Parts: sequence; C-alpha cells; structure tokens
Amino acid sequence: MPNIILLGPPGAGKGTQAARLVAERGMVQLSTGDMLREAKSSGTEMGKRVAAVMDRGELVTDEIVIGLIEEKIASGAGNGFIFDGFPRTLAQADALGELLARTGQRLDAVIQLVVDDETLIARIVGRAEEARAAGKPVRADDNPEVFADRLRAYYKSTSPLIGYYYALGDLFTVDGLAPVETVAGSIANVLDQAVAATAT
Ligand code: AMP
Repeated sequence: MPNIILLGPPGAGKGTQAARLVAERGMVQLSTGDMLREAKSSGTEMGKRVAAVMDRGELVTDEIVIGLIEEKIASGAGNGFIFDGFPRTLAQADALGELLARTGQRLDAVIQLVVDDETLIARIVGRAEEARAAGKPVRADDNPEVFADRLRAYYKSTSPLIGYYYALGDLFTVDGLAPVETVAGSIANVLDQAVAATAT
C-alpha cells in the first residue's frame, strides 16, 4: 500500500484528511507535530528542549524530527504511512528518502493541499474557538500572532519541497479550499492512481 506525504501550510487540512485515511484505509498517520506535542506535555528531556521553539511557531531541529520518524518507519506499515507535517525542510526530505530506501520502502505520492493565506488564518482562529467552546485545550500556537510566524516558516523552509517533489515526478496537487468531502475524494483518486502504478 502507498506511502504518502500530505504537504501544505499549517491549517491546510492535512490532519483532517490524514484522520480520514486512517479510518477508511487503515493507513498509519505519522504527525511529527503530534509526536512533539506529546513529548512536550509528558515533559521528556526532548519535550522540554522543543517547547519554546514550538510556542514561537519556529521549526525544531531536523535532527530531532528525523530521529522521531526513523523510530517509527523502520518496520514499515502494511497499509501505508501518511507523513503529516513531515518533511518540512529539504534536509528532512533527503533524510526521508534515505530512510525509506534503506528499509526497502518507497514514497508513492506527495499530495499538496493548495489553499490561500486568508482562509488559513480564518481556519486557525476557528480551530481555537471550536476547542474553547468544546472545553478542549487550545493549542498554544493556534493564535494569529504565532500563526503568522508558522506561515513564514512554511514559506521559507517547507515550500521549496514543492519543487523538490515536482522534479522527482512525485507531486500531485489538490484544491484544499474545496469542501472536506471533495478534498477526500481527490486524495482517494491520487491514492488509487499510485496503487495502480505500483501494481504495474
Ligand atoms: P504541526 O502540528 O504540524 O503544525 O506542528 C506544530 C509545531 O511542531 C511546528 O510549528 C514546529 O514547531 C514543530 N514541528 C512539527 N513538525 C516539524 C518538522 N517536521 N520539522 C520541524 N518542526 C516541526
């Protein structure tokens, strides 16, 4: 089954779509953001080291996130991995390619969720309000000030991956502004294509 990357700025809908793929296809979601938040809240040494960086909306070091991913992918996933929020830099993309090759795995598709900044800011404000209304904890970095920095980090460090994967012939683009169901349908099409390509 395919291993895919969901690529896009914060708030593009990567987590939402990943959760659906987990439920519908039994794929395994690997979100470095979730792993880092877990380390932060459980107070591990690494968690303490990354807390301030995350709260500022900056990227944690490549070494840390590559280490997290390396632990998880060694044994492969029967139904495929969804990389969500990783890779976020060219160095991470290179490292992922090497890790997959070393463990006899491959990357089947990189799905870019295309959205615009105004929509992202509205979604982030909405995500914080929803959490507040439901009595759930609001992510420390889901506020307009930190979000602007997260978006800058995306454009500076992560958006070059669009060219990187386009050059490798792995890039598929999906309109992330469409309704959630439509986006899910477009992703399903890409996955089916990727599966068919692997089978031939
Ligand atoms: P996310 O939940 O994907 O938006 O990630 C939340 C925060 O975790 C980011 O703003 C970064 O500080 C950090 N983070 C998550 N994934 C990565 C990554 N692949 N590389 C560097 N920092 C990351």
